[in-house]
Amino acid sequence: MGHCHYCYLQTTMGSKPYIRTYVNVEEVFDQAEQYMRERAPEMTRFEASCTSDIVGIDHLTHTLKRAIEYFGESDLGQLRFVTKFAHVDHLLDAKHNGKTRFRFSINADYVIKYFEPGTSKLDDRLEAARKVAEAGYPLGFIVAPIYLHEGWREGYKEMFEKLEALLPQYARNDLTFEFIQHRFTKPAKKTIEKNYPMTKLELDESKRKPKWGKYGIWKYVYTNEEQEDMKNTLGKYLVDYFPEAKFEYFT
Ligand code: SF4
Repeated sequence: MGHCHYCYLQTTMGSKPYIRTYVNVEEVFDQAEQYMRERAPEMTRFEASCTSDIVGIDHLTHTLKRAIEYFGESDLGQLRFVTKFAHVDHLLDAKHNGKTRFRFSINADYVIKYFEPGTSKLDDRLEAARKVAEAGYPLGFIVAPIYLHEGWREGYKEMFEKLEALLPQYARNDLTFEFIQHRFTKPAKKTIEKNYPMTKLELDESKRKPKWGKYGIWKYVYTNEEQEDMKNTLGKYLVDYFPEAKFEYFT
Protein backbone atom coordinates (compact mmCIF):
# COMPACT_ATOMS: atom_id res chain seq x y z
CA MET A 1 0.00 0.00 0.00
CA GLY A 2 2.77 2.39 0.84
CA HIS A 3 6.33 2.58 -0.39
CA CYS A 4 8.14 1.36 2.68
CA HIS A 5 11.71 0.73 1.61
CA TYR A 6 12.23 -2.20 3.95
CA CYS A 7 8.90 -3.95 3.30
CA TYR A 8 9.42 -7.69 2.80
CA LEU A 9 6.59 -7.69 0.29
CA GLN A 10 9.04 -5.91 -2.03
CA THR A 11 10.63 -9.29 -2.48
CA THR A 12 7.51 -11.26 -3.26
CA MET A 13 5.80 -8.59 -5.35
CA GLY A 14 8.73 -7.82 -7.64
CA SER A 15 9.55 -4.44 -9.15
CA LYS A 16 5.99 -3.30 -9.86
CA PRO A 17 3.79 -4.09 -6.88
CA TYR A 18 0.07 -3.65 -7.33
CA ILE A 19 -2.87 -3.45 -4.97
CA ARG A 20 -5.17 -6.45 -4.90
CA THR A 21 -8.57 -6.63 -3.27
CA TYR A 22 -10.79 -9.69 -2.97
CA VAL A 23 -14.42 -9.48 -4.01
CA ASN A 24 -15.43 -13.06 -3.15
CA VAL A 25 -15.90 -12.09 0.45
CA GLU A 26 -18.72 -14.55 1.11
CA GLU A 27 -16.51 -17.43 -0.04
CA VAL A 28 -13.70 -16.23 2.19
CA PHE A 29 -16.05 -16.13 5.17
CA ASP A 30 -17.39 -19.61 4.32
CA GLN A 31 -13.84 -20.95 4.35
CA ALA A 32 -13.12 -19.18 7.62
CA GLU A 33 -16.25 -20.76 9.10
CA GLN A 34 -14.99 -24.19 8.07
CA TYR A 35 -11.61 -23.62 9.75
CA MET A 36 -13.33 -22.49 12.92
CA ARG A 37 -15.61 -25.51 12.99
CA GLU A 38 -12.66 -27.86 12.50
CA ARG A 39 -10.89 -26.30 15.47
CA ALA A 40 -13.91 -25.93 17.74
CA PRO A 41 -14.15 -25.56 20.69
CA GLU A 42 -10.75 -23.84 20.36
CA MET A 43 -10.90 -20.17 19.42
CA THR A 44 -9.42 -19.40 15.96
CA ARG A 45 -7.72 -16.09 15.36
CA PHE A 46 -7.43 -14.73 11.84
CA GLU A 47 -4.74 -12.30 10.74
CA ALA A 48 -5.88 -9.91 7.98
CA SER A 49 -2.64 -8.12 7.22
CA CYS A 50 -0.11 -10.78 6.23
CA THR A 51 0.18 -9.70 2.61
CA SER A 52 -0.86 -6.07 2.58
CA ASP A 53 -2.11 -3.15 4.65
CA ILE A 54 -5.84 -3.64 4.41
CA VAL A 55 -6.84 -0.42 6.19
CA GLY A 56 -5.14 1.65 3.49
CA ILE A 57 -7.73 0.62 0.91
CA ASP A 58 -10.73 -0.22 3.06
CA HIS A 59 -12.26 3.26 2.93
CA LEU A 60 -13.00 2.32 -0.72
CA THR A 61 -14.01 -1.34 -0.33
CA HIS A 62 -15.36 -1.69 3.24
CA THR A 63 -14.35 -5.36 3.08
CA LEU A 64 -12.50 -5.14 6.36
CA LYS A 65 -15.52 -3.56 7.96
CA ARG A 66 -17.61 -6.54 6.85
CA ALA A 67 -15.01 -8.91 8.27
CA ILE A 68 -14.95 -7.06 11.59
CA GLU A 69 -18.74 -7.36 11.85
CA TYR A 70 -18.63 -10.99 10.73
CA PHE A 71 -16.25 -11.91 13.53
CA GLY A 72 -18.18 -9.64 15.88
CA GLU A 73 -21.02 -12.15 15.62
CA SER A 74 -18.80 -15.24 15.82
CA ASP A 75 -18.39 -17.33 18.97
CA LEU A 76 -15.30 -19.13 17.71
CA GLY A 77 -13.36 -16.52 15.77
CA GLN A 78 -11.31 -13.43 16.39
CA LEU A 79 -9.70 -11.03 13.97
CA ARG A 80 -6.59 -8.90 14.07
CA PHE A 81 -4.66 -6.77 11.63
CA VAL A 82 -2.07 -4.03 11.64
CA THR A 83 -1.87 -0.79 9.71
CA LYS A 84 0.29 2.22 8.97
CA PHE A 85 -2.72 4.21 7.84
CA ALA A 86 -4.99 6.63 9.66
CA HIS A 87 -8.09 6.19 7.48
CA VAL A 88 -10.18 4.55 10.16
CA ASP A 89 -13.30 6.71 10.39
CA HIS A 90 -15.60 4.29 8.57
CA LEU A 91 -14.53 1.49 10.95
CA LEU A 92 -15.44 3.31 14.14
CA ASP A 93 -19.10 2.32 14.13
CA ALA A 94 -18.48 -1.32 13.08
CA LYS A 95 -20.10 -3.81 15.46
CA HIS A 96 -16.86 -5.44 16.56
CA ASN A 97 -18.06 -6.75 19.96
CA GLY A 98 -14.47 -6.71 21.17
CA LYS A 99 -13.49 -9.57 18.84
CA THR A 100 -11.09 -7.58 16.69
CA ARG A 101 -7.72 -6.34 17.87
CA PHE A 102 -6.94 -3.15 15.96
CA ARG A 103 -3.17 -2.73 15.79
CA PHE A 104 -1.08 0.15 14.53
CA SER A 105 2.44 -0.10 13.26
CA ILE A 106 4.38 2.78 14.77
CA ASN A 107 7.95 3.96 14.63
CA ALA A 108 10.29 6.83 15.43
CA ASP A 109 9.62 9.90 13.27
CA TYR A 110 12.98 9.43 11.52
CA VAL A 111 12.06 5.95 10.24
CA ILE A 112 8.62 7.05 9.04
CA LYS A 113 10.06 10.12 7.33
CA TYR A 114 12.87 8.38 5.46
CA PHE A 115 11.61 4.87 4.90
CA GLU A 116 7.80 4.86 4.86
CA PRO A 117 6.71 7.17 2.02
CA GLY A 118 3.03 7.07 1.16
CA THR A 119 1.88 6.02 4.64
CA SER A 120 0.25 8.14 7.37
CA LYS A 121 2.47 10.26 9.62
CA LEU A 122 3.07 9.15 13.21
CA ASP A 123 0.83 11.87 14.67
CA ASP A 124 -2.01 10.87 12.34
CA ARG A 125 -1.63 7.17 13.24
CA LEU A 126 -1.68 8.03 16.93
CA GLU A 127 -4.77 10.19 16.51
CA ALA A 128 -6.42 7.30 14.64
CA ALA A 129 -5.45 4.96 17.50
CA ARG A 130 -7.13 7.29 19.97
CA LYS A 131 -10.34 7.20 17.91
CA VAL A 132 -10.17 3.40 17.67
CA ALA A 133 -9.72 3.16 21.46
CA GLU A 134 -12.74 5.42 21.96
CA ALA A 135 -14.72 3.10 19.69
CA GLY A 136 -14.01 0.31 22.20
CA TYR A 137 -11.70 -1.89 20.13
CA PRO A 138 -8.95 -3.85 21.90
CA LEU A 139 -5.84 -2.01 20.75
CA GLY A 140 -2.27 -3.02 19.96
CA PHE A 141 0.95 -1.50 18.67
CA ILE A 142 3.69 -3.10 16.66
CA VAL A 143 6.91 -1.15 16.84
CA ALA A 144 8.48 -2.25 13.59
CA PRO A 145 10.93 -2.28 12.18
CA ILE A 146 13.08 -1.11 15.07
CA TYR A 147 15.93 0.51 13.22
CA LEU A 148 19.15 1.80 14.74
CA HIS A 149 19.75 5.32 13.48
CA GLU A 150 21.42 8.38 14.92
CA GLY A 151 19.35 9.48 17.90
CA TRP A 152 17.27 6.28 17.97
CA ARG A 153 16.95 6.27 21.76
CA GLU A 154 15.42 9.76 21.76
CA GLY A 155 13.35 9.00 18.67
CA TYR A 156 11.67 5.96 20.20
CA LYS A 157 11.30 7.73 23.54
CA GLU A 158 9.44 10.58 21.83
CA MET A 159 7.20 8.05 20.13
CA PHE A 160 6.23 6.52 23.48
CA GLU A 161 5.79 9.99 25.03
CA LYS A 162 3.39 11.05 22.28
CA LEU A 163 1.41 7.86 22.62
CA GLU A 164 1.24 8.18 26.39
CA ALA A 165 -0.04 11.76 26.15
CA LEU A 166 -2.80 10.77 23.78
CA LEU A 167 -4.15 7.38 24.77
CA PRO A 168 -7.16 7.37 27.13
CA GLN A 169 -6.58 5.57 30.42
CA TYR A 170 -9.34 3.02 29.84
CA ALA A 171 -7.64 1.79 26.65
CA ARG A 172 -4.54 0.71 28.57
CA ASN A 173 -5.94 -2.30 30.36
CA ASP A 174 -6.23 -4.35 27.19
CA LEU A 175 -3.25 -3.13 25.23
CA THR A 176 -0.55 -5.18 23.49
CA PHE A 177 2.91 -4.33 22.19
CA GLU A 178 5.06 -6.27 19.73
CA PHE A 179 8.67 -5.32 18.95
CA ILE A 180 10.27 -6.38 15.66
CA GLN A 181 13.82 -5.44 14.74
CA HIS A 182 14.77 -4.57 11.18
CA ARG A 183 16.01 -7.45 9.04
CA PHE A 184 16.60 -8.10 5.38
CA THR A 185 17.44 -10.93 3.01
CA LYS A 186 19.78 -10.80 0.01
CA PRO A 187 16.91 -10.94 -2.54
CA ALA A 188 15.11 -8.16 -0.63
CA LYS A 189 18.26 -6.04 -0.67
CA LYS A 190 18.52 -6.45 -4.43
CA THR A 191 14.93 -5.37 -5.00
CA ILE A 192 15.13 -2.47 -2.54
CA GLU A 193 18.30 -1.12 -4.16
CA LYS A 194 16.66 -1.33 -7.58
CA ASN A 195 13.35 0.23 -6.55
CA TYR A 196 14.80 2.86 -4.21
CA PRO A 197 18.34 3.58 -5.41
CA MET A 198 18.65 6.66 -3.19
CA THR A 199 17.53 4.96 0.01
CA LYS A 200 19.41 5.69 3.23
CA LEU A 201 18.45 2.25 4.53
CA GLU A 202 21.50 0.47 5.89
CA LEU A 203 21.76 -2.96 4.22
CA ASP A 204 25.33 -4.02 4.94
CA GLU A 205 25.46 -7.77 5.66
CA SER A 206 28.86 -7.43 7.35
CA LYS A 207 27.32 -5.27 10.10
CA ARG A 208 24.58 -7.79 10.83
CA LYS A 209 24.13 -11.26 12.24
CA PRO A 210 22.91 -13.94 9.81
CA LYS A 211 19.93 -15.92 11.01
CA TRP A 212 18.46 -18.93 9.22
CA GLY A 213 14.83 -18.14 8.48
CA LYS A 214 11.97 -20.58 8.56
CA TYR A 215 11.29 -19.93 4.86
CA GLY A 216 14.65 -21.42 3.95
CA ILE A 217 16.63 -18.25 3.45
CA TRP A 218 19.23 -16.34 5.45
CA LYS A 219 18.09 -13.10 6.95
CA TYR A 220 20.31 -10.42 8.42
CA VAL A 221 19.34 -9.16 11.87
CA TYR A 222 21.20 -6.93 14.33
CA THR A 223 24.10 -8.29 16.38
CA ASN A 224 23.32 -9.85 19.78
CA GLU A 225 24.59 -6.76 21.63
CA GLU A 226 22.50 -4.43 19.49
CA GLN A 227 19.44 -6.61 19.95
CA GLU A 228 19.91 -6.58 23.73
CA ASP A 229 20.32 -2.82 23.68
CA MET A 230 17.16 -2.17 21.67
CA LYS A 231 15.16 -4.71 23.66
CA ASN A 232 16.23 -3.20 26.99
CA THR A 233 15.84 0.41 25.86
CA LEU A 234 12.38 0.03 24.34
CA GLY A 235 11.36 -2.43 27.06
CA LYS A 236 12.14 0.20 29.69
CA TYR A 237 10.09 2.84 27.84
CA LEU A 238 7.22 0.40 27.70
CA VAL A 239 7.32 -0.30 31.43
CA ASP A 240 7.70 3.41 32.22
CA TYR A 241 4.89 4.64 30.00
CA PHE A 242 2.51 1.69 29.81
CA PRO A 243 3.00 -0.51 32.88
CA GLU A 244 -0.43 -2.11 32.33
CA ALA A 245 0.26 -3.19 28.73
CA LYS A 246 0.99 -6.75 27.67
CA PHE A 247 4.36 -7.19 25.99
CA GLU A 248 3.97 -9.96 23.41
CA TYR A 249 7.47 -10.54 22.04
CA PHE A 250 10.68 -9.11 20.61
CA THR A 251 11.98 -10.71 17.47
S1 SF4 B 1 2.29 -0.06 4.15
FE1 SF4 B 1 2.85 -2.11 4.93
S2 SF4 B 1 2.49 -3.48 3.21
FE2 SF4 B 1 2.58 -1.41 2.36
S3 SF4 B 1 4.72 -1.08 1.76
FE3 SF4 B 1 4.50 -0.33 3.86
S4 SF4 B 1 5.09 -2.09 5.16
FE4 SF4 B 1 4.65 -2.91 3.09
